Amino acid sequence: MPRRARSLLLALLLAAIPGPAMASAGPSYRDWAAIEARVATIGFRLTTANAAWCPVHQPQFGWIWGDPRLYDADRRPEALAAYGAADRDAPFIAAIAAASPAAAGMRVGAAVVGIRGSPVPAGEGDHPFARITAIETSLAALPAGTALALDVGDGRTIDIAPVPGCVSDFRVEPSAKPGAVADGRMVLVNYGLAQFATGDDELAAAVAHEVAHNILRHRARLDAAGVDRGLGKQFGRNARLFKQTEIEADRLSVWLLAGAGYDPAAAARFWERFGQRKGRPLLPAATHPRWGDRVAALEAEAAAIAAERAADRPLHPPLIDAPPPLE
Ligand SMILES: [Zn+2]
Repeated sequence: MPRRARSLLLALLLAAIPGPAMASAGPSYRDWAAIEARVATIGFRLTTANAAWCPVHQPQFGWIWGDPRLYDADRRPEALAAYGAADRDAPFIAAIAAASPAAAGMRVGAAVVGIRGSPVPAGEGDHPFARITAIETSLAALPAGTALALDVGDGRTIDIAPVPGCVSDFRVEPSAKPGAVADGRMVLVNYGLAQFATGDDELAAAVAHEVAHNILRHRARLDAAGVDRGLGKQFGRNARLFKQTEIEADRLSVWLLAGAGYDPAAAARFWERFGQRKGRPLLPAATHPRWGDRVAALEAEAAAIAAERAADRPLHPPLIDAPPPLE
């Protein structure tokens, strides 16, 4: 593809990503921040309570990052006020999970100007998320037990000792569309999906499905299998392999809920309601199993967990040690 066409395509793709600047038509910043706090706690519990099952670890701190650059200049003061963030330029801590390493030393709204003696990375390009993506990526690559000295400005530093967890960082998008996505490292949850959940167990079910995609390395494995993630994903082998990853994520998600102390039956409850929601697409997507099949499979995993518990056997999830090949 010629370079100009490629950069135009990239610009269109980025424009299609709902940005936080759209918050004027969506949730208030306070409501958004409240959902971020819930997702931070749920993500921290799912990744750390289940760490012993995960084949790959990253340090988990129990935070979600924010950045003043995420907001249009005219809305920035209001947005930063929702977090109690005083610094108009530095990235800051937008949410802190309960009982996490971050909760031991940080507060929501605290600016971070340096990490381990270096200024926070600038990130590549001018996308609003570039800087915090660079921070999260560099921290995720550290050995799981690496303690950090965070420079929080005015010459003050705060030491944070993370705990090992399964891979995933978390972000809440202000979009009203009830969706979520996992790219192998990030879990993005739309505000609309979080609102659809009736409580933390159901919200955890939605988050656990995305964490399961990351643990099972679905994005990388689909890419390695040459699967088309564009328009072609609705057809033939592409659709079949996508569907396989959705079934795997559903199955593992129920065990992740159980391992983190959430109700494993919440997954079937949540997705059954989700499959019947108003405004859903008329035709089922070729990339996902039918809703009835999904709910039946989720109920079967919850029943398997109940049987293990009744027999007093330790839980061990399916798939996690050796997921079947995508071919
Ligand atoms: Zn999925």
